[in-house]
Amino acid sequence: MSRPSIYDRLAAAQARSAKAQLTRRLRCVDRADGPHLQINGRLLLSFCSNDYLGLANHPAIVAALKSAAEQDGVGSMAAHLICGHRREHAALEEDLAEWMGRKRVLVFSTGYMANLSVLTVLLQAGDLCVQDKLNHASLLDGAHLAGVELKRYRHADLDSAARQLASRPGVCALLATEGVFSMDGDAAPLPALASLCKKERSVFMVDVAHGLGVTGPQGAGSVAAANLGEEDVPVLMATFGKALGTFGAFVAGGETLIDALTQSARPYIYTTAMPPALAAATRAAIAIARKETWRREKLAALVARYRAGAEQLGLPLTPSTTAIQPLMLGDAGSAVDAARQLEKSGFLVGAIRPPTVPYGSARLRVTFSASHEESEVDRLLEALSEMRLPTARNSPQAPDGV
Ligand SMILES: *Cc1c(COP(=O)(O)O)cnc(C)c1O
Repeated sequence: MSRPSIYDRLAAAQARSAKAQLTRRLRCVDRADGPHLQINGRLLLSFCSNDYLGLANHPAIVAALKSAAEQDGVGSMAAHLICGHRREHAALEEDLAEWMGRKRVLVFSTGYMANLSVLTVLLQAGDLCVQDKLNHASLLDGAHLAGVELKRYRHADLDSAARQLASRPGVCALLATEGVFSMDGDAAPLPALASLCKKERSVFMVDVAHGLGVTGPQGAGSVAAANLGEEDVPVLMATFGKALGTFGAFVAGGETLIDALTQSARPYIYTTAMPPALAAATRAAIAIARKETWRREKLAALVARYRAGAEQLGLPLTPSTTAIQPLMLGDAGSAVDAARQLEKSGFLVGAIRPPTVPYGSARLRVTFSASHEESEVDRLLEALSEMRLPTARNSPQAPDGV
């Protein structure tokens, strides 16, 4: 038998995905000024970034980045455990520990790596990992990389989570959920999940990527909003690339957790430390996010304005009240079509398709930022009203069944 070709296989997969309208397209943004993007010479107003507080182009954060780079250079020159760990990283970890109300914090280069680290360090073959069906790919991949049994439960469904945990009472277990779900914008039932984990003696891990900066007192995130401490949520993870407008991520928790990650997390040990100037910029972003409550208030007002308008238009809204407002369209083709029509009218909105979301739940993921103006939300609503979209009544429900 002759050896099959890898490249023939790739070509066949690409043809299949093109037919199903699932091809992903890379676009190049020439200039970005908050939500105002210049692409191919055209100005587009974006409703698809995760810059919820409008900090990505904040002058004080840019200044912090520049001044740290002037002092310390750009590259960190090595991994943290060699000589890449700088004073700016240490200071950022201290700021975060105080903000999160946790004993220790470890900074990672990306959230993807932070999640891979936690799951591979805490779990071993034979253990049980229980996760929400709609968890981010990095959490699912972490469980796969750890080589453990991954049991997913119905989205935000406590009974389903309890059944999955109870199915294997005799082994070490970890339950992981997002705080605010990245593609749906709804919140996990954190207090109930925390109680369940206590009862089942399972470690509870929460990824608050989309809640940090946006919810909770001083924007401390979904776990703080639910008033849950280190005892309730021993593993807290979040990213800097969303509401803080910078780049990178962290894990917060107790001594044992952070020591274990430092000693053996391969995505921490075998990678170059984040540039120290980025740590400095992130510290500046945290200070602004904590202090400037008006950003959260403005964001909430914009979201409320959009929801009221979209409801009047009969658009297929979901119950989400966060900055993430999906319009559920069902099949991938409809989502791509809708995004194309919006782009013609000058708006950039993400068409989210499988495998990022379950089959049959393709959507426009409309996101808002404190850097949007009311008039811009109104313009988006006007453009949506001129399109032929399914209405709330005949729109598909977000499937969440296991
Ligand atoms: C964005 C995101 C990540 C990954 O973070 P990066 O820093 O972008 O790698 C992890 N979890 C969730 C829920 C996210 O939305």
